[in-house]
This record gives sequence, C-alpha cells and structure tokens, in this order.
Amino acid sequence: MEIKTAEFIKGIIGTNEILEDERPQVAFVGRSNVGKSSVINSLVNRKNLVKSGAKPGKTRQINFFLINKKIYFVDLPGYGFIKTSLKQKEKIRRMILWYLFRSEIKFKKVVLIIDARIGLSEFDKEMLDLLNKNKYPVVVVVNKIDKLKKNKLIGQLKIIRKKAGDNEIIPYSAKTKEGRHKLLDKIFS
Ligand code: GDP
Repeated sequence: MEIKTAEFIKGIIGTNEILEDERPQVAFVGRSNVGKSSVINSLVNRKNLVKSGAKPGKTRQINFFLINKKIYFVDLPGYGFIKTSLKQKEKIRRMILWYLFRSEIKFKKVVLIIDARIGLSEFDKEMLDLLNKNKYPVVVVVNKIDKLKKNKLIGQLKIIRKKAGDNEIIPYSAKTKEGRHKLLDKIFS
C-alpha cells in the first residue's frame, strides 16, 4: 500500500461532524516529543504535513489528515509534556480518552508510539491496557531506534516486548525510515 495523497482536513477540540464520517480512522498516540509528527510525516513521505518539533505540547487539537482520499490519519495531542501545567495535562489526557473511548469511531488501527530509549512509560502502559481491554487493534511503534547502539537496542526491545504482552511491536526510525513498510502494511492490512 502506498500513500499517494495526504491532506490536512481539520483540527478539533470536541464534538465535530468529522467523527461521524464513515471513513476508517487510524489514531496515533504518544508522549510529547516521542516523534509522533515525524512518524506520520515519514509514513506519508512529506517533510512537514504534520508540524513537527517547534513547540512541543502546543498541539492541543486532534488533527485529521485524509490519506488517499479514503482513510484518516488522526494525530492526537502528545501527553506528558513537562512544561505544561497539571491542569493542561489533565485536559489533554481527557481529550485523548474522550476521542478514543467515548466517540463511536471504529478504529482501523491505534498506533501507540514510544521512544526506544525510554520504553513504555506509565501513561503508555495505562493507555495500552485500556486499548487492549476495549479490544482495539493496536500496534506499538518503537521509534528512534537509530539513536541506540545495536546491543542496547536488543536489550530495550526485550524489555518492551515483555511489558507489551501480546501487542505487536514495530521497531522504527522516522529518521532512517526503518520499519516504514512494515508499519504501512500493518495499518492497511
Ligand atoms: P512529537 O512531539 O511527538 O510530534 O515529536 P516530533 O516529531 O516533533 O519529534 C521530536 C524530536 O525528535 C524532533 O527533534 C525530531 O527530529 C526527533 N525525532 C523524531 N523521530 C526520530 C527518529 O526516529 N530518530 C531520531 N534520531 N530523531 C527523531
């Protein structure tokens, strides 16, 4: 499956008619700075479809991108950015949970992105457990593998696999694009 077109449709902060659109949705979740924008950009082969990097924690909307005119990639706000207030963190957390678990969307996939160096954080684990409990189709992307030496990476992947249980893990680098085809296959399968 190749991506031919990708366009930003809109950002939402609450109920919106796009949630009733019948097209399948693929949600991307992860901590701030984990490389969520970079992963989406690498998948669609665009440098800047999703605005990356500049001000982590600033994207507090749920952003919808239409892919090949028939499927949405949905970029959720990053959680846990250190410099946001507790109140703001709670707001973001609620927005993510609302979108994932209160709307009636049928998800094609939920892509949970984690940092290879950090592994599954507490909130990642909480998120993963909730997704599993609700029987969502989950894939865990272990991003930034290019930042680790081979031996260290093998060790980290072992720990992550153990914590992630039966969920599929895809080692990934938005920088080198390692794992891209595997992730695309997984998303569109
Ligand atoms: P977001 O906040 O999760 O959307 O994260 P960004 O996509 O903005 O990435 C945060 C930082 O990590 C940026 O400086 C990216 O260039 C960098 N980054 C993201 N993915 C990778 C990766 O796979 N490898 C490396 N080396 N850097 C990455």
